[in-house]
Amino acid sequence: MGEPVRLFQSIAGLRCFLERSRLGKKVGLVPTMGALHAGHLSLIEQACRDNEIAIATIFVNPLQFGPTEDYQQYPRTLEQDLQLCQQLGVAAIFAPTAEELYGNHIPSSAEGERLTQVVPPTTMTSVLCGRSRPGHFQGVATIVTKLLNIVQPTNAYFGQKDAQQLAIIRRLVADLNLPVNIVGCPIVREQSGLAYSSRNHYLTPEEKEQATVLSRALKQAEKIFQSGERQGISLLNAVKEEFAAVPEAQLEYVELVHPKTLKPLEQVEEAGLLAIAARLGSTRLIDNFILRHRRPIVAIDGPAGAGKSTVARQVAQSLGLLHLDTGAMYRAITWLVLESGIDIGDECAIAELTSQAQLQFSMDEVSETVLRVWINGKEVTQAIRSSQVTANVSAIAAQAAVRQALVRQQQRWGQTGGIVAEGRDIGTHVFPDAEVKIFLTASVQERARRRQQDLKSQGQGEFSLEQLQHDISTRDTYDSTRALAPLQKAADAREVNTDGLSVDQVTQEIVSLVRG
Ligand code: AMP
Repeated sequence: MGEPVRLFQSIAGLRCFLERSRLGKKVGLVPTMGALHAGHLSLIEQACRDNEIAIATIFVNPLQFGPTEDYQQYPRTLEQDLQLCQQLGVAAIFAPTAEELYGNHIPSSAEGERLTQVVPPTTMTSVLCGRSRPGHFQGVATIVTKLLNIVQPTNAYFGQKDAQQLAIIRRLVADLNLPVNIVGCPIVREQSGLAYSSRNHYLTPEEKEQATVLSRALKQAEKIFQSGERQGISLLNAVKEEFAAVPEAQLEYVELVHPKTLKPLEQVEEAGLLAIAARLGSTRLIDNFILRHRRPIVAIDGPAGAGKSTVARQVAQSLGLLHLDTGAMYRAITWLVLESGIDIGDECAIAELTSQAQLQFSMDEVSETVLRVWINGKEVTQAIRSSQVTANVSAIAAQAAVRQALVRQQQRWGQTGGIVAEGRDIGTHVFPDAEVKIFLTASVQERARRRQQDLKSQGQGEFSLEQLQHDISTRDTYDSTRALAPLQKAADAREVNTDGLSVDQVTQEIVSLVRG
């Protein structure tokens, strides 16, 4: 176990800790209301994996509770929460009093107008939970903005369990240009399907059993969605029918909305958020599924030399998907930088150039294997393979602004699915919701052997296996520990070890995983 977790209740204490320890390090923030359960822990684990410093906040925020809601009864288990955070490697917990954050006037959402509040668009706050919880999302937006300003994290983690909250926070961060990356994490469920929630504490054993209707109803709707039903009315009816069989569970709402804008949908085009709230006795529970209708995204990550790009190209070809050659994107930007005469080290000018660059890809209709690349309307398919581009591409790809702009671009292409992408953090960062995630590996010995053969067949001479093994191990360590886009295996990735397998065999294995 590393350093003991530090507990701060004051903003001054936390700021002092951060100022002394953060220099050049990534800071991950996980805002919670405590009573930590497996859902929270998955967010905290992710924050500890992605950042050198993980901070969890534990604060039952009075501003987001209505006058008749459970602010007083909300479970508070600070001792146990501290221990759990300690075990996971959290650096510090921020557990302020309401006075520390709101001064000596502790607001309820009814009197909240006395504070400066963050008010997200009404289209997002008046639907779903907003109907029965007026002021709730203003309270959430305000506390999250305060915590982001206090901690100034690199990444902040929120659960998909609170899908409306996540969509509103993403919008808030985009609208106000807050300098933080918002990471959405999948819903963690008990074996029964019930989503973990601090409010599950309130349920009697019978109610807990009855509460499984929430996930069961969503699953039923997903089933008919998978078999081709796209109409909202039918999907909502499927949920209502399941609820009809459990009269103890009072359905407060079931709605189908766009996952990002939260605008009501009559039918699902690319994706829909099917969300419900229901009461069991006096306990209010929420749950949701994202229904996605798109061709699959296949994310292939793994260490250098595992054969990712060859395999990705073949998998894409076999499945009729586009191989999103991210390397070609970085090459195209490098070509543009060289062409414009900007100094390779002038990161700010390159950031400016990249953010305005228009990239286009298409599959060559004749060969169907060559990806054609355009930048700012000019075809550069051949030009990006020049030795000058090759010599400079890694320096350009190491620049944070270039990477950010290209990841955003990749995600835009991914919206409609139908791509195979390979890299170091495709399954964890670029497409965390990819349908199929592969972690392609091979032993250091095997990769050294392959590299030796490649070098020989390219006429580059004989290299000793020991030397190549040493180089590959050094590269592995660098790739896994570097600050920008380190190699990461997604928790839900399937590991494929390619030792002793041909490219065709690996391709077949992945293709059959995609076809399910
Ligand atoms: P809360 O303490 O309820 O404010 O939750 C803190 C964070 O944990 C929020 O971002 C929630 O969305 C997230 N969270 C709560 N329950 C779950 C769950 N079952 N799975 C994943 N994330 C969750």
